[in-house]
Amino acid sequence: MIEVNRQGDIWVFAEQEAGKLSDVPLELLSKGRELAEKLGVRLGCMLLGDGVKDLAAALVAQGADKVYLVEEPRLRQYQTNGYAKVVCDLIHAHKPQICLFGATAIGRDLAPRVASAMKCGLTADCTDLQIGDHQPAGGGETHKNLLLQIRPAFGGNIIATIINYDRWPQMATVREGVMPLSSPDLRRKGRIIPCPVSLNGFELPLKIIESRRTQKKVNLKAARVIVAGGAGVGSRENFKLVWDLANCLGAAAAGSRAAVDLGYIDRDHQVGQTGTTVRPALYVACGISGAVQHRAGMEGSAKILAINSDPGASIFSVAHYGIVGDLNEVIPRLIKAIRRGATIEQAAAEKKI
Ligand SMILES: Cc1cc2nc3c(=O)[nH]c(=O)nc-3n(C[C@H](O)[C@H](O)[C@H](O)COP(=O)(O)OP(=O)(O)OC[C@H]3O[C@@H](n4cnc5c(N)ncnc54)[C@H](O)[C@@H]3O)c2cc1C
Repeated sequence: MIEVNRQGDIWVFAEQEAGKLSDVPLELLSKGRELAEKLGVRLGCMLLGDGVKDLAAALVAQGADKVYLVEEPRLRQYQTNGYAKVVCDLIHAHKPQICLFGATAIGRDLAPRVASAMKCGLTADCTDLQIGDHQPAGGGETHKNLLLQIRPAFGGNIIATIINYDRWPQMATVREGVMPLSSPDLRRKGRIIPCPVSLNGFELPLKIIESRRTQKKVNLKAARVIVAGGAGVGSRENFKLVWDLANCLGAAAAGSRAAVDLGYIDRDHQVGQTGTTVRPALYVACGISGAVQHRAGMEGSAKILAINSDPGASIFSVAHYGIVGDLNEVIPRLIKAIRRGATIEQAAAEKKI
């Protein structure tokens, strides 16, 4: 634990693998910039690895004022113990008030280890981060300018705001795609602060012989248009309708968790709280009820078209266009209209609600 320190910086863990930054630290820097300006403090990054110095420029362009650079041959590949030791040493030395990590495989391994070593607490999978005050229920001192760590709780039935006012740093993880990515500013200037550490004599329990990575089958985050199917599609065979509409629109196909669990489409295609968060120009939801966990992953889409046989389905509450009807009839009609040259908006407008 470090002492409560209201002048402390905001830090982001700049996750990289094989010398390539993942998207999530860049997204966290975009959000971190907003939070740092609100608090009037600096935005820093922890960049660990071996031969990774060149990545600092991208972090500065994305909003970092300082990059704490730790290069060590034994940090070339991620290992929990070595990385956790270095991150804890950096926190003790520089006393940031907030530390943010991506909720990636590495972030989910590292952040709890650091939080446990620092005895400070951690909120996982935040869907929003804000700065605000907290007045304890029984009265007493108002805690000012805390990190409000916002996330769904109790199966998504409530949105909880979690705070930590006395065991610092305040720590949170955020899933990839949740925070919008701002445009990099290549003219920004930042400081690179080399932090010499030695892991000599520090025992790393694993010897990594070889690492193999499999690519995801689909990059939903990059898709401009997404056609997603849910349990209402009825079967894996019938999911062909969703693929056909997606092909016709040059879109990526996706599914709700129910569609994935039912085996209609592979898990890489899942949208939502435990899938991918997407913000395409157009999201077409077919036979999806619009549970809060699904909406959490798609309601930032610029335009949403929902097709559902139930007029009371909650997907309609976030949709810009809605078609009440059986998707087995509606999708072929949409495909026909689009092939005739209609835009999806024109095709949907006939049955707009
Ligand atoms: C911790 C947690 C995490 C979760 N994470 C996710 C997540 O990441 N993503 C996600 O999607 N869900 C997630 N869920 C599950 C979520 O709560 C819902 O169960 C799920 O989204 C429901 O999927 P669905 O809308 O496809 O199915 P249903 O809720 O069963 O809805 C099917 C819809 O299809 C409609 N329909 C049926 N037949 C037709 C037809 N012929 N034509 C048109 N419409 C029809 C029905 O009216 C209904 O609205 C999570 C749940 C929990 C507890």
